[in-house]
Amino acid sequence: MSIHPILKSKNLPRLLSFSDTLPTPHILIDPEMVKNEFKALCSKFKSTKIFYAVKANPNPEVVRLVAKMGSNFDVASRYELDMLIGLGIEPDRMFYGNTIKKAEDIAYFFSKGVRTYASDCLEDLHKIATNAPGSRIYFRLLLDGPENTADWPLSRKFGCRAEVIQDLIDEALTCGLEVYGLSFHVGSQQRDIEQWDLALRAVSEICKLSPVPIRLINMGGGLPAHYLQDTKPMATYSAHISRYIEKYFPDPETRPQFAMEPGRSLVADSGVLVSEIITIAKKSVEGEVRWIFLDAGKFNGLIETLDESVKYVVKTEHEIKNGISSDEPRSEVILAGPTCDSMDIMYQDFKYTMPDNLASGSRLYFLSTGAYTSSYASVGFNGFPPIKTYVLPQNFEARRIQK
Ligand SMILES: *Cc1c(COP(=O)(O)O)cnc(C)c1O
Repeated sequence: MSIHPILKSKNLPRLLSFSDTLPTPHILIDPEMVKNEFKALCSKFKSTKIFYAVKANPNPEVVRLVAKMGSNFDVASRYELDMLIGLGIEPDRMFYGNTIKKAEDIAYFFSKGVRTYASDCLEDLHKIATNAPGSRIYFRLLLDGPENTADWPLSRKFGCRAEVIQDLIDEALTCGLEVYGLSFHVGSQQRDIEQWDLALRAVSEICKLSPVPIRLINMGGGLPAHYLQDTKPMATYSAHISRYIEKYFPDPETRPQFAMEPGRSLVADSGVLVSEIITIAKKSVEGEVRWIFLDAGKFNGLIETLDESVKYVVKTEHEIKNGISSDEPRSEVILAGPTCDSMDIMYQDFKYTMPDNLASGSRLYFLSTGAYTSSYASVGFNGFPPIKTYVLPQNFEARRIQK
């Protein structure tokens, strides 16, 4: 496996040194990596507009950072909207991308100046027509079967079939809405690049049948972060996706504007979740497998370990601070969280191995935890507070790193 990107970050010594000053558990973000990822996405997807999916990491400092880089935003609720407006982000840089919305929330977005809305059913379309008259609509397509190859599928709940979209287009025109575009999401952490081929072909078919020109194709998210399961490099994704775009939309003159809504791929790799080992236990005399109980678990940051879907790269203090794997003997462990709920076990079927000399009180580092961690944490199960996110301060000086 290739070296994880954060282990190559020049900020790593400062990040770890800053982390040492903080109580666990916490999530630390390397802002340099978010910036670099944003730049890389812009250069790899040249004529594609980027809308950051705020839900991936709504930390205001992260949002401000991507806003400064020129990002637009995929907004899912009035609470995200308020936060963005509070940061001075203009409403014309936002999509209201959630297909599930209350009439009063649509009216609220409209009153704040947001004019572009996602939709996938008649009832929602009528709500938009009433509460955000004349707005731009893009219709979300329900895709067939990308669930099996995405580690965190998003597809079934959202979107509708192509034939429904054709009806919605007609109805939108009747209601005085602006038929603007089409969208899809191939599933988050999508390992099968061909899913974009299928999705782009499907939207190109709808474009051909539309009575009015489709001006926007919103490709959603799905680009991967660096977890334990191998994925192709981002350059491979961008090369293939660009080729699919040219295949299905060959004429650059009439090609719609392309957009994407990266969440995970933009912020995940920049984050490290740092937790402390509370207890190491064996359940039986002969039992070989150690149970490692951490102060972080499913309810405070690691919910995407549900069904062991996302497998984070986990490093010990020794490994992350010395940059090498220790050559001590290792054995299988079960990793579990601190709460009184038996589902608060991160990994049990898939066996991580940890050094035999690992001791309680030392720390474990979960890499690529900058997305879907803090925003998914419970508010106070068993009284544990939501996990805190810190962005590495620019002026923080690294201290000597203890070995
Ligand atoms: C969650 C979401 C995204 C972000 O997806 P990632 O796989 O994290 O990049 C983008 N668009 C919509 C509509 C979403 O719901």
